[in-house]
Amino acid sequence: MRSKFLPFSQPSITKADIAAVSEVLRSGWITTGPKAAEFEQKFCDYIGCPGAVTLSSATAGMHLALKALGIGVGDEVITPSMTWVSTVNLIVLAGAKPVFADIDRDTLMVSPSTIEECVSLRTRLIIPVHFAGAPVDIGPIRQLAHQRRIFLIEDAAHALGTHYMGEHVGRNGTSIFSFHPIKNITTGEGGMFCSDNQDLLDRVRRLKFHGLGVDAYDRHTQGRSPQAEVLEPGYKYNMPDILAALGISQLARVDEFNRQRTRLAMRYRERLAEVDEILPLSDPPYPIKHAWHLFIIRLDTDKAGLSRDQLMSELKQKNIGTGLHFRAVHLQKYYRESMGIRRGMLPNTEWNSDRICSLPLFADMTAEDVDDVVNAIKEVLKK
Ligand SMILES: *Cc1c(COP(=O)(O)O)cnc(C)c1O
Repeated sequence: MRSKFLPFSQPSITKADIAAVSEVLRSGWITTGPKAAEFEQKFCDYIGCPGAVTLSSATAGMHLALKALGIGVGDEVITPSMTWVSTVNLIVLAGAKPVFADIDRDTLMVSPSTIEECVSLRTRLIIPVHFAGAPVDIGPIRQLAHQRRIFLIEDAAHALGTHYMGEHVGRNGTSIFSFHPIKNITTGEGGMFCSDNQDLLDRVRRLKFHGLGVDAYDRHTQGRSPQAEVLEPGYKYNMPDILAALGISQLARVDEFNRQRTRLAMRYRERLAEVDEILPLSDPPYPIKHAWHLFIIRLDTDKAGLSRDQLMSELKQKNIGTGLHFRAVHLQKYYRESMGIRRGMLPNTEWNSDRICSLPLFADMTAEDVDDVVNAIKEVLKK
């Protein structure tokens, strides 16, 4: 057994990261300013998208996007239930109705057909999720949204470094990335809103800072009027330069991080192939580049004679941390009760929600760590 606990995730922070943050701390300007602007530019260059806005989180980006698109009472928004709760919470807080599309059983992603089944005359927006580092089948989904005049926002929180049909996710259309500490790069907390729609970019940029046309840095240093006017009531969702400097430093290493994540994921796949009770996910059938944000397994609970929750707690006793991405949103108390939900409505989502578990995966992990995890799983299953 491992003597030291292996966490499910851990950020990779180098001396260069610390130096970049220290430089900002010593500079006299620590909130949103030149580093945030530089991070936006470098992020655009990496993704290949025309414009990006730094934010305090991906959740903030989703909130502003819903606001900018005017989503509210009477509107329906299609999204998976197999997602982080933030998206669904925001839809409800906006007064709109979430409509849950089921997922493919083996990729955990919505498909053009599961989305199409949910479309109604009230559908205003579709929010598909690029799951675990693989891309959703965005081509036909974009076509469907375009034909029905429905907005599309890609949840790319798992998808930094993910390619679909040879292009980075988020290159076209509108997408949101997250820099929470478990994501492929981190700023502590943070997010990026990317779009090829200039009006939407301008609106999000304004809404993230009180609805002023400019942010504090513009007012102090760019010679604009210090009495910037409120063009509409906005929020306070800007990313400080302390964090943006970390983002710039991390972005420079994202390909290196993802190469290591890929090596580790391949070793998991190889070593777990011999464990009958463990079902890995499948790669989607179209051309992709996987960012390996998460390595998710499903426990064949019948064959194993134990539950997923038991597996997670027994692994913890063996000093192996795990995660759960995600517990289906529609089965959580508020949504069950407020939406009159019964089990059976989303069979693939529910089947996976009961069986999935995310194994440790982060750039500073080693092949030996993977072997420790696999050996611990084998020991738990043998009992
Ligand atoms: C992490 C995550 C988010 C939210 O990101 P934050 O930056 O924490 O707000 C949204 N969607 C998915 C699928 C995520 O995994």
